[in-house]
Amino acid sequence: GFKCGIVGLPNVGKSTLFNALTKTAAAQAANYPFCTIEPNTGEVAVPDPRLKKISAITKSKEIIPTRISFVDIAGLVRGASKGEGLGNQFLANIREVDAIVHVLRCFEDDDITHVEGRIDPVADAETVETELMLADLESLERRTTQMQKRASGKDKEAMTLLPMMEQALALLQDGKPVRLLLDGIAAEDLKILRGLNLLTSKPVLYVCNVAEADAAEGNAHSQAVATMADGQGALSVVISAAIEAEVAQLSDAEAAEYLEAMGLEEPGLDRLIRAGYELLDLITFFTSGPKETRAWTVHKGAKAPQAAGVIHTDFERGFIRAQTIGYQDFVALGGETAAREAGKARDEGKEYVVTDGDVMLFKFNT
Ligand code: GDP
Repeated sequence: GFKCGIVGLPNVGKSTLFNALTKTAAAQAANYPFCTIEPNTGEVAVPDPRLKKISAITKSKEIIPTRISFVDIAGLVRGASKGEGLGNQFLANIREVDAIVHVLRCFEDDDITHVEGRIDPVADAETVETELMLADLESLERRTTQMQKRASGKDKEAMTLLPMMEQALALLQDGKPVRLLLDGIAAEDLKILRGLNLLTSKPVLYVCNVAEADAAEGNAHSQAVATMADGQGALSVVISAAIEAEVAQLSDAEAAEYLEAMGLEEPGLDRLIRAGYELLDLITFFTSGPKETRAWTVHKGAKAPQAAGVIHTDFERGFIRAQTIGYQDFVALGGETAAREAGKARDEGKEYVVTDGDVMLFKFNT
């Protein structure tokens, strides 16, 4: 599955957010740094209003959303890259996730200690990023030196990897995160970069945790974060962890009423989950019939057989073709039969690149 790691300085609201996410109300959010040490993982459904529309047409008995995982990674402190405190464990946990959700404290509350003694989310983001860059710099410098030796001996692998390593190293030496290389990167290079498994090459989503009153509009702190994110190829969302914690405990009807009173259209967590999904560069395709309407996840760029393989490995192995109807056509025309009659049900082969929202039916050999 695809995993987002939730990181941030102590006491910014990570656990509150994570608990709301997984609705594990039982878990504690104490006003004490380092209260969560082991990474906690929670799987969440990706909200998608298209599921309901499709299932209304096919009269499915069941709706099954697709899922992504969030991992609560605690223990970041200044000096983590030098192995201070829980630093090493923290960095090891980040290595295992596909994307980083970075929670920043954008709320004022004199009762909740801030480790740095002031509210400044942009500076906090830099503190965390600096630790990640230092860790990357150290590991990459070592590996690049070895690789340069091998490349001068005409080692093929080294000669392939080295240019990417040197580009990444140059950025880090310049005090910049490696994810700046991701913008418009070629598929081959992306593979190499992912293989290096650097901490700052992972996509980042900043979550601005604001006070309840600022949940709808954000505040000066969250605006500063949005500007920073823009300049870094990162995303940002405004959320009130306190509201989300409250909503997580209400019935759907109560939650809707409460959100409306707060001036919100939907739970912030829904936006967070969707942003995480976007961050991971994922798209959704659907299967639908009387039994169930189901959302499935693939990486952007996946071809039809790979999509089939997400459902069952046999589907990929024996793939023949996929009847594919675009979501808009499926809904506008009112389902498969009408779409076929209108010539909107395409037979796609092995090279077809899946589009977000495709409603697919696979033909395969067993
Ligand atoms: P973590 O250390 O980052 O996991 O932070 P926690 O989620 O444990 O939160 C630390 C403290 O801040 C707890 O007492 C929370 O109740 C409180 N807290 C979290 N989010 C908010 C918020 O949006 N507003 C206020 N006032 N307090 C919050």
